[in-house]
Amino acid sequence: MDKTASSYWDTPIAYLKGVGPQRAQMLNTELGIFTFRDLLEFLPFRYEDRTSFATVKELTSQEEKYVQLKGMIRGMEEAGSGAKRRLIVYFYDGTGIIELVWFKKIDWIKKQLKPGIEYVAYGRVQLFQNTYTMPHPEIEPYQGDDKLGLRPVYHSTEKLKRKGLDSRGISRLIANLLPAALPHVQDPLPLSIRQRYDLLPKAEALAQLHFPKSSYLLEQAQKRMKFEEIFFFQLYLVQAKIYRKQHFAGQILDKVELSRRFIEEVLPFRLTNAQRRVLREIYADMKSGRQMNRLVQGDVGSGKTVVAFIAALIAIDSGAQACLMAPTEILADQHYKSFCEFAEKLPVKVAKLTGSTPQAERRALLAGLQSGEIDLLVGTHALIEDSVQFKNLGLSIIDEQHRFGVEQRSKLWQKNEGIHPHVLVMTATPIPRTLAMTFYSDLDVSIIDELPPGRKPVRTIHRYDKHRLSVFGFVREELKKGRQAYFVYPLIEESESLDLKDLMDGYESIRRAFPEYHVSIVHGRMRPQDKDYEMQRFARGETQIMVATTVIEVGVNVPNASVMIIENAERFGLAQLHQLRGRVGRGAEQSYCILMTGNQLSTEARRRIRTMVESNDGFEIANVDLEIRGPGDITGTRQSGLNLMFTNLAKDYPIIEKAKKAVEELLAADPTLQAPEHALLKKHVQMQAAEKLNWARIS
Ligand code: ADP
Ligand code: MG
Repeated sequence: MDKTASSYWDTPIAYLKGVGPQRAQMLNTELGIFTFRDLLEFLPFRYEDRTSFATVKELTSQEEKYVQLKGMIRGMEEAGSGAKRRLIVYFYDGTGIIELVWFKKIDWIKKQLKPGIEYVAYGRVQLFQNTYTMPHPEIEPYQGDDKLGLRPVYHSTEKLKRKGLDSRGISRLIANLLPAALPHVQDPLPLSIRQRYDLLPKAEALAQLHFPKSSYLLEQAQKRMKFEEIFFFQLYLVQAKIYRKQHFAGQILDKVELSRRFIEEVLPFRLTNAQRRVLREIYADMKSGRQMNRLVQGDVGSGKTVVAFIAALIAIDSGAQACLMAPTEILADQHYKSFCEFAEKLPVKVAKLTGSTPQAERRALLAGLQSGEIDLLVGTHALIEDSVQFKNLGLSIIDEQHRFGVEQRSKLWQKNEGIHPHVLVMTATPIPRTLAMTFYSDLDVSIIDELPPGRKPVRTIHRYDKHRLSVFGFVREELKKGRQAYFVYPLIEESESLDLKDLMDGYESIRRAFPEYHVSIVHGRMRPQDKDYEMQRFARGETQIMVATTVIEVGVNVPNASVMIIENAERFGLAQLHQLRGRVGRGAEQSYCILMTGNQLSTEARRRIRTMVESNDGFEIANVDLEIRGPGDITGTRQSGLNLMFTNLAKDYPIIEKAKKAVEELLAADPTLQAPEHALLKKHVQMQAAEKLNWARIS
């Protein structure tokens, strides 16, 4: 509803019939419901299908499912004593008898249930010693078929239940609220759009969400809410982008001598077509005079680093500075090294700044940045500290964007006084292309959808723990050929001493199994210097095996490593598995990724593993990930402020398309939303914008 509107919606919930001060207090603390608006927006989280009755005769024992029965009480008895005391009610529906069983509230139930009355019992059927039973059913007198339907189920808590506010209780409050409240609902979507896209009015949609008259109307109500949700999100993003393009000038960075020289004389390989296309897109932005805000998506190993470097060369060539921020020291280090190598034959000065840069060195470095002597700065979070000032920062590059919070990014964005630097965000966790286009509408998106030639796809294999010996044998064969191997364990978090133990046990057994090889270990609880030291040893080939947690997930590049064993692979998410696997297959050799799991796998885990075994394509994997997890966790979208209540990004694509189209049509017809019929809509957008503030310009 329209949040700007009247005080009606802000009426404290205590004033609603059936609430009062005590219950109001509880609704406040338990569910965060303070006002009429809060209650109206407190939607059921699911619906029970109470449209039809099952019969006892036709019950099957195959599945334990919820059913609704209509019948009478034939008798009742108590059995057992103490904790085992229970009430058995014999319930006859004309086709057979089922036992309704209560372990709690026995005396109360006994008083409620009367013979000779028709009841409706709803619950989960179990087959217990050849008899059908229904433990703790919901039971109530039958009130006629017109009272049947889809019944809303609301979240409640133990405390509220004790005050009579279980799901039914809450639904009664909402029933009290609706008749007076619905006429106050203002529809932010103009009639013209509702008509064109066949959408229920808002008030009707809300009514149906609480008390659906049919599953068709419920679906229509949900469709309407999804559309609205996406519509305003899109409208907001598109407007933000238009605003940014109109208002944020960018330095004109258009010199290409240096980058041309680099590509022709220094670079040891030919850029792929995809890399070249993306560079053209970047270049067009950088010379446009408007600030670039571009996301580069590319699968693991697609060669984003060199694209970043060339973009930096364009900036430097044009007299500006550039910086690249990486999420970890290890990565910053690695980028620094490749950039130094790249820059060796070029008049470009590269420097590195991280949290562990010594004080004296840091001072010199800061001076070099201010004088403009340093052209390209690589580093970690340390880059966003206020003391880091540039002479003229023209381009900010953020690698593996999901590791950074929105706020950190926008700080980097503000690094240059006067004119803002161009921003390039690189992410290796693809999100499905269609979604990227939709949900980064305020960003321009470039996609590197091609791997450098000659890459052999990593072969991925699933093995159970009991095959460990043969897996070790396989690893030994690879090591004998002079290759290196990773063993990866689930993340070590602050409190998870169990994981640390697993890792250390694993490390010991690997050392025992491979006495002839050197083994490195890296995990999140080590000091950065120690981590680094071990990484370097592995990278130089002084150790042949790297035992690690997911700290190596992102970006690490050791082309000679050709085997990756992932322990407890069922505990990793798809995006993470794909990232991890990207650590091998970087050289000319055939590489392998072996996913180790226990025997027991959930359906979801099985699907993840199967997807990994079958596909090497990050975009395809991202699609499956989206289907499994929903969008909330998908990299980047959470940080983009995308908090969707109704829409399922994996499934609702048709609605998303329509909402997007509606936004385009609206802005084409009325770019500034001046038409009177768009007044409410405009107000809605302004509210939303106020909530999101300025970070949207970068995320
Ligand atoms: P990512 O996109 O995962 O960050 P990198 O930039 O680390 O990938 O590149 C992976 C590897 O591929 C590096 O060793 C890089 O030098 C190499 N590479 C990048 N582009 C090409 C290319 N066009 N041809 C051959 N090798 C390339
Ligand atoms: Mg990278």
